[in-house]
Amino acid sequence: PSGMVAAGNLVLAGLLEQGHEAYFVGGCVRDELLGRPVHDMDLTTSARPEEVMGIFPRCVPTGLAHGTITVLQDGWSFEVTTYRTESGYADHRRPEHVLFVSDVKEDLRRRDFTINAMCRGLDGIVVDPYGGQEDSERRLIRCVGDAEARFEEDALRMLRCVRFASVLDFSIAKNTWRGLLRQRDKLAHIAVERVRAELERIVLGPHPQRGLGLLARSGLLPRGKAPFPWTGSDMAAAAALTAGIGDLQDAHLRWALLLHALKQPASESGELLRAWTFPGATRSAVAGVLRVRDAWDAALAEVPPGSPGGTEALRRRWIAAVLACGQSAAEGWLTLLAALPQAASPCPAGVAQPPAPALGAPEAGAPAAQRLNAPDIAALRSWTAEMPLHTLAELAVTGHELARALQKRPGPWLGERLQQLLLAAAAGDVPNDTQLLLQEAKRMDRNEP
Ligand code: ATP
Ligand code: MG
Repeated sequence: PSGMVAAGNLVLAGLLEQGHEAYFVGGCVRDELLGRPVHDMDLTTSARPEEVMGIFPRCVPTGLAHGTITVLQDGWSFEVTTYRTESGYADHRRPEHVLFVSDVKEDLRRRDFTINAMCRGLDGIVVDPYGGQEDSERRLIRCVGDAEARFEEDALRMLRCVRFASVLDFSIAKNTWRGLLRQRDKLAHIAVERVRAELERIVLGPHPQRGLGLLARSGLLPRGKAPFPWTGSDMAAAAALTAGIGDLQDAHLRWALLLHALKQPASESGELLRAWTFPGATRSAVAGVLRVRDAWDAALAEVPPGSPGGTEALRRRWIAAVLACGQSAAEGWLTLLAALPQAASPCPAGVAQPPAPALGAPEAGAPAAQRLNAPDIAALRSWTAEMPLHTLAELAVTGHELARALQKRPGPWLGERLQQLLLAAAAGDVPNDTQLLLQEAKRMDRNEP
């Protein structure tokens, strides 16, 4: 936004006026060069933190020990950091010592990638000692200095490397990739929240399949234990199944597709997402979609789709699943199903399929033959659309009315009966009408077919 740039220019000018050096640095310079939207602007300066605080009345010492002051200007905030070097990364993450220095090139050298190691002055001149502009043009992620050493210092950089390659759709320079492969085990030192944050930017970014492919090929994530219980081959299989992930608009569906591709059962996905520190709304939405999948898989396993009456039995199973998991979870699963590669889909009997074998031909239990006759996504969609109601609240009879009409005390039977009536009404057996539903309940009570 131009307001942000104008405010940033004022901060920069304020530092220059007092005789200090100052530049915009890092992500904003990179994104300006790439013609991408700039969401925030960081500054780097020769001024010491106390000097920065002396110049700007409205500021917050957000990272004083590391030389970072947040300066507020015209409603925008800017991180202003004193030129510094870092050393002693004992835990493969945070430097133990920072040293303020006077040369901006020293400061740029501590930064992770060449495209992030550029700064720009008020005059527009770009300071680029490590070839960031050339790498931008060649669309390359390259470490500043020796890749293996830089990844060993701070293991999070490896995930940032994959994230930038994914979001920008860049390649990774050969030496950088080699360094990453050598240091990949060090990712275990990084806190799960940090891993999740990077993963989120990959998965929700514009080219998620690129990042997932790189994660699979790098072996960065697999640790074989919670909260990343996968092996390299799980990740490779998942990368193939998630080829269509970029077409999904809904963030929850992208996570659901990833967990589906990683063969995660619905019953365990809530816990897993909790371990990844996801908020409750995300956890329940994602788990809901996977519950629909599990219910439908169970239906397909129990009801041979080609068998006489199989289609009707499956329709009822589907409707029961929609009622149990909710309409939005069901629609989510159908959207996700459509994004899966056809051959891997559990119900791929769509238009592109070869003609089904002669009627009655499929052998029960033969998965391929079964799938050929299974209802396709369009059938599931129209079954869902035809449902006259989706929740107990919409049913034209209450538990109270039902108990009274049947002259029975309320008890566990009541909830069960209401669910049966809901299914009957949703499947179109009975109109959603109080009298007709009560009549149906009485018939059910007499156990008539
Ligand atoms: P974005 O904000 O879009 O994620 P960014 O490049 O601004 O991209 P930040 O995490 O905001 O990324 O970091 C700002 C700058 O600080 C980076 O451009 C880079 O120069 C430097 N930097 C950030 N994290 C690291 C790191 N782990 N190691 C080395 N330098 C880093
Ligand atoms: Mg940034």
